[in-house]
Amino acid sequence: MTALTEELKGGLDAPICLTWELTYACNLACIHCLSSSGRRDPAELSTGEAMAVIDEMQAMQVFYVNIGGGEPTIRPDFFDLVAYATEQQVGVKFSTNGSRIDAATAELLAGFDYTDIQLSLDGADAATNDAVRGQGSYATARTAMDHLAAAGFGPFKISVVVTRQNVAQVDQFEALVDHYGAQLRLTRLRPAGRGADTWHQLHPTNDQQRALYHWLLDRPEVLTGDSFFHLNALGERNLPGLNLCGAGRVVCLVDPVGDVYACPFVLHDDFRAGNVRDPGGFAAVWRTSALFREFREPQSAGACAGCGQFDACQGGCMAAKFFTGLPLDGPDPECVSGHGLDALAAVTPAAVPRSTSNHSKPSSLGSTPVIGSAESTIVTLGPTRHRSPAG
Ligand code: SF4
Ligand code: SF4
Repeated sequence: MTALTEELKGGLDAPICLTWELTYACNLACIHCLSSSGRRDPAELSTGEAMAVIDEMQAMQVFYVNIGGGEPTIRPDFFDLVAYATEQQVGVKFSTNGSRIDAATAELLAGFDYTDIQLSLDGADAATNDAVRGQGSYATARTAMDHLAAAGFGPFKISVVVTRQNVAQVDQFEALVDHYGAQLRLTRLRPAGRGADTWHQLHPTNDQQRALYHWLLDRPEVLTGDSFFHLNALGERNLPGLNLCGAGRVVCLVDPVGDVYACPFVLHDDFRAGNVRDPGGFAAVWRTSALFREFREPQSAGACAGCGQFDACQGGCMAAKFFTGLPLDGPDPECVSGHGLDALAAVTPAAVPRSTSNHSKPSSLGSTPVIGSAESTIVTLGPTRHRSPAG
């Protein structure tokens, strides 16, 4: 455990990584969407309110903000907000499915300073990607990449949620980023939002996690958002990045209606610390909320205490535990020693918390997507349950 990690556990004056979901509106209906997005919330922050949040970020010296959604570019004021943030020296990294990035938009974006783009792609081919993100979404994302490359945007990110079905394609993703002069970002699938309903079919197997750990160790240039630290239990060498759950300490989420949560993957009332519309705004929530103070206290290792790997893996991801019904002070559901799977076997469906909001379109509820696995087994996913919760 490094001195830096210990210091970060006590929290900082401002988050290192602030995720801001600008809207729940989305033109897609991805089956693992962590925010159950689809429909715009009528109580969404106005342009003026969003600019006031940016002013706060500038005052708090937030270095950059991760903007997502939903599909953030659907907001009519999206590019005004990006321009406003960068004028205030708040850098913007935004995630998009690429559907709004045509040649002219790519030119516009190439002219912005302090702006980075993460294009979501969850398969190295259309069949794998579209099974998760919807028909035609692979072609849409590739077209957006072509436009960004033609506009000379520079090294945008290709952001992949690692699944059982695409983990064998990591070399193909690497070739794709090389083709575009882009950067690869791999993130962990969390059982949040609609992902709670598909996690059991999509999350990588233990053998796949082991292979991924070694693949990542050989490629420190691959970005991960520090999301695979639970894999550090597999070896003596840690993956690059922060080795801790940063919820409420260095990470938080602002949702489209201004609610502030401890992490992008825990959209649930238990993890809501306040709202940017409250007196004192975002800064007061970050600095004084009782919930965030609690997160910054030393945490118990609980059932992981007897494991010789706790220092390396820290018991894993709080969100993954919460939305699979596991105790927060026990092993991660994807614990590489298998303790999570053992614990999951004892969880009854009624004990699994559901997210407290759901903005799915009616058409994405009750659908029955079909996923082809890496082993070419066809896995049919059950109907999406009505629920909601956040990388
Ligand atoms: S709950 Fe999971 S995703 Fe959220 S900050 Fe902690 S480790 Fe990261
Ligand atoms: S038992 Fe806990 S500390 Fe040990 S590897 Fe599993 S999750 Fe990590």
